[in-house]
Formats: sequence, C-alpha cells, structure tokens
Amino acid sequence: MKSYEKLLENNKSWARESIEKDPEFFNRLKNTQTPEYLWIGCSDSRVPPDSITGTLPGEIFIHRNIANMVVNTDLNMLSVLQYSVEVLKVKHIIVCGHYGCGGVKAAMTNSSLGIIDKWLRNIKDVHRFNREEVDAIENEDEKIDRMIELNVKEQVMNLSKTSIVQRAWKNSNAPDIHGWVYGLNNGLIKPIFELKAGTHIDPLYEYDNL
Ligand SMILES: [Zn+2]
Repeated sequence: MKSYEKLLENNKSWARESIEKDPEFFNRLKNTQTPEYLWIGCSDSRVPPDSITGTLPGEIFIHRNIANMVVNTDLNMLSVLQYSVEVLKVKHIIVCGHYGCGGVKAAMTNSSLGIIDKWLRNIKDVHRFNREEVDAIENEDEKIDRMIELNVKEQVMNLSKTSIVQRAWKNSNAPDIHGWVYGLNNGLIKPIFELKAGTHIDPLYEYDNL
C-alpha cells in the first residue's frame, strides 16, 4: 500500500467509528457549522489544533500559516477572520504558537531562504520591537522561546488593530482574543496573553467611525 492510501483507509475507519459512536454525527454537521472558536496556528505538522484541544469537527474554525502570523495585507487570513467573526460569530479567537517554531528560528538568522523571507520579515519586526529584552537573553533556546511568546502576543495585538475585530467589539462585545504557546516537548498549552473584547488599545490604531 502506498503511504497516502493509508490515509484513505484510516478515513474509512474513522467515518465508520464516528457513526458507531454517534449515529447522528454527520447528519448534524452536514448543513451547518457553529464553531465557538477561531484558531490561528502554525502550519507545523506537530501542532494539530483538534487533537491537542480534544475538539471535534464543527468546533473550531481554523487558519494556519507559518509561525501563526496575523499580517494585515494577508487576504486569506482577513477573509477567514471576517467570515468567522461576522458570520459564524465566534466567541474566542486563539492565536497559538509553539515552542521550537522553525519559522521564528529562521527569522532570527541572517540566511535568505527564498520567498519565505518576505513572510518571516514580519517576525523580524517583532524582534526589533522587543530588541532589548530578547537580545539580553544569552541562552539561544531561551531567546527563541521568548521570541515565540512575544510573536504570539504581537499577533493578538495585530488582530485588535483590524476594523473587523474593532467593529465586533463595539457591536457585540466579542470575541475575546487569546495568545497561547504549545509545548512540543510535553503537549501542554501555556496561555501567555489575553485581550478581552472591548479592551482599549493604542489610540493610534483605534478607529472612531465604525
Ligand atoms: Zn511553527
């Protein structure tokens, strides 16, 4: 059997077992989804949102990219954000990074890696904003881990700068935004930052005509 064929076999077993456990499982999901959470995570194969949070199909709306970035010109991320906030009305947005993130590591080197340089440059900006703190850490792994935390925090802030989130905060006092970091070594998620709906952000970024 070719390796990808195993996936199709697994899928058949999964579908069968899901129905055995809950005969209405697919019937309930086929026409509608009402997820409470939007997850913005890293594409890293070791950080699967459903498995690590014990959630089922229908529970999390998911966007993943390298290093869980919220880049304000990223039409893909913005579309996911708008749809999940305005149509699905998610109550929580979770930005989940992970220790040992290759994207953050790469952004802290001076190697050019091709087109991904342009993406990673957004992480270099996070380094620049926090230069004093990050550069004072001598241990290389600790330095990267701290950058991973600061990057998550920055992406939470970036979400709050969007008109999509600000409008939702004003109209429905939701969603709350959470910054988490997952540990590859122990499987545990560490909450590191939170912005409750309606939090006042830097006035430079606040729209007053939404
Ligand atoms: Zn990563």
